[in-house]
Amino acid sequence: MLRLAGAAVRFPGRAALDGIDLDVAEREIVCVLGPSGSGKSTLLRTVAGLQPLDAGRVFLDGRDLRGVPAHRRGVGLMFQDHQLFPQRDVGGNVGFGLRVRGTGRAERDARVGELLDLVGLPGAARRAVGSLSGGEQQRVALARALAPRPRLLMLDEPLGQLDRSLRERLVVELRSLFERLGTTVLAVTHDQGEAFALADRVVVMRDGRIAQSGKPLEVWQWPADAFVARFLGFENVVGARVTGRVADTPWGGIPVPEGSAQGPGDLLVRPAAVRFVAASEGLRCTVTARTFRGAHVAVRLDPGGGAPALEAECAVRAAPGPGDEVGVVFEPADVVVLGGREAGAGRAP
Ligand code: ADP
Ligand code: MG
Repeated sequence: MLRLAGAAVRFPGRAALDGIDLDVAEREIVCVLGPSGSGKSTLLRTVAGLQPLDAGRVFLDGRDLRGVPAHRRGVGLMFQDHQLFPQRDVGGNVGFGLRVRGTGRAERDARVGELLDLVGLPGAARRAVGSLSGGEQQRVALARALAPRPRLLMLDEPLGQLDRSLRERLVVELRSLFERLGTTVLAVTHDQGEAFALADRVVVMRDGRIAQSGKPLEVWQWPADAFVARFLGFENVVGARVTGRVADTPWGGIPVPEGSAQGPGDLLVRPAAVRFVAASEGLRCTVTARTFRGAHVAVRLDPGGGAPALEAECAVRAAPGPGDEVGVVFEPADVVVLGGREAGAGRAP
């Protein structure tokens, strides 16, 4: 439904978008994930018609959008800061787009009521926006973006300003809402949790380019390169040389899955791959920190000898504490030779 072909935007001194090719299918929820400054907002602004392209094309339903003004594109954009109009009540905010298009009062009121029900704020039309909590304002902004029934809904950091527990709840609600409505969604965020919970497909951006695109589970299991792996929060990423089933690393020889790409490359050792054994066996490490993360514990290890720190995870009751000496061995099922996906390496999802 949406296609970007070679889309490029240059600002003085740098390219915000550097040749983006991206397709979004009807009813698909695509989430663009990337660090601040990677070009996410610029991408949405080009599709919305708020930022002209320096090269490339944007197509919606096969139609080239060049020269089509923003209000004729049939796309809804919910901005990063989702500013509501403070002088209008909730209904005035939600109905704004309809009013601009000349939709009559009765139809507008009906649609506003319907949308407020949908976002879980029934009967809130006459409330002042100043009396709403952050989460409620976010819902009103979403209802406002949905009101004109856009062909494509674009969300810029939709839950960025909310606290963690509210964000986790809303993201699940959003996903089921979009599924029910059959909305096609292109969302951008710098938060991996948000992207992975919301998306049918995740697109990781770096410096105006696409670093990886795939189903959330695929991207999680097989990050394309060291940048993507680190951005997803994995810390055990090192240069290695793979020979047969063993990778030579600063942590010693680590077993890799059958079929892994051979030769020099980057290796991801998931924390789950690090197993504790007696201090006299395996790679000897000193525990430097221990962090409780709900059901498991993240353990930081210093292998000594100038080798990089290792991140491990284990059950709460089995967790060693700071200062403890431990031995570690590695489980190949949670070791990934990055970029080796084509070779069919690694565990099937
Ligand atoms: P993100 O949303 O991923 O944080 P942006 O798309 O906002 O990234 O910005 C990408 C890059 O383009 C950044 O380096 C930013 O500083 C730059 N940029 C964005 N808008 C402008 C502008 N109007 N003028 C100059 N540089 C800009
Ligand atoms: Mg942005």
